[in-house]
Amino acid sequence: MRPEVSVNPDRKRILIIEDENHIAEGLRLNLFLKGYDAKIAADGASGLKIWKEWRPGLIVLDIMLPGMDGFSVLRNIRLEDERLPVLILSARSEADDKVKGLAYGVDDYLSKPFNLEEFLLRVERLLKRAAWSSESREGGENSGAPDSIGGIYVFGVNTIDLDRFQAECRQGKVNLTEQEIKLLKLFAAHPGRPLSRSEILELCWGYAPGTPTRTVDNFIVRFRKYFEDDPQNPVHFKSIRGIGYLFNP
Ligand code: CA
Repeated sequence: MRPEVSVNPDRKRILIIEDENHIAEGLRLNLFLKGYDAKIAADGASGLKIWKEWRPGLIVLDIMLPGMDGFSVLRNIRLEDERLPVLILSARSEADDKVKGLAYGVDDYLSKPFNLEEFLLRVERLLKRAAWSSESREGGENSGAPDSIGGIYVFGVNTIDLDRFQAECRQGKVNLTEQEIKLLKLFAAHPGRPLSRSEILELCWGYAPGTPTRTVDNFIVRFRKYFEDDPQNPVHFKSIRGIGYLFNP
């Protein structure tokens, strides 16, 4: 039993580290109305303390804080937890900050002033993604069960609705086929791990090893067209010579 009893123990916990009280209170209230349990820390040190004791499922983090700044808070968290979703709020709009944040493992970034609806949408998206990725972790590295995964999956600038077979990407809204979704789920379940063509065929198509592997290549060409900045120099769907492909979220 946790000593702190909230209204509903199933509410997802969100920690807001923000020194501007009116912003923090506004966010806390709106998160509460959306069914979340939110706490506020007005500086980095107390933020880290609450993070350790309360173990929130997501952190909303301001950059400009008294004392320790948001980036230091983030680096501290990332030493222990690489996966906790962190949404940065910043009054600074320099592209520099964004790049720095991404390098430190920020999951999403909002510049102040921001739209409240957009904020709530991003929170929801990040929590879904985190829940999804922990499910796929529990499934085990080699579970190879891409069908059990659902919801929203985000990588780079792409948002995939795995249940509705739709993607929001550089090309706008794209409808995906069942087979494309299956392959995306497989990649998403194995980020950073090289997958051989025959492995992919076996898991996604159910082919016996030794079947021609050209099919996989055709799908990758399409994925790169949809999801890569520059399909000729892919960042997300990389070829591994002599093996197959590696997905980089
Ligand atoms: Ca601030």
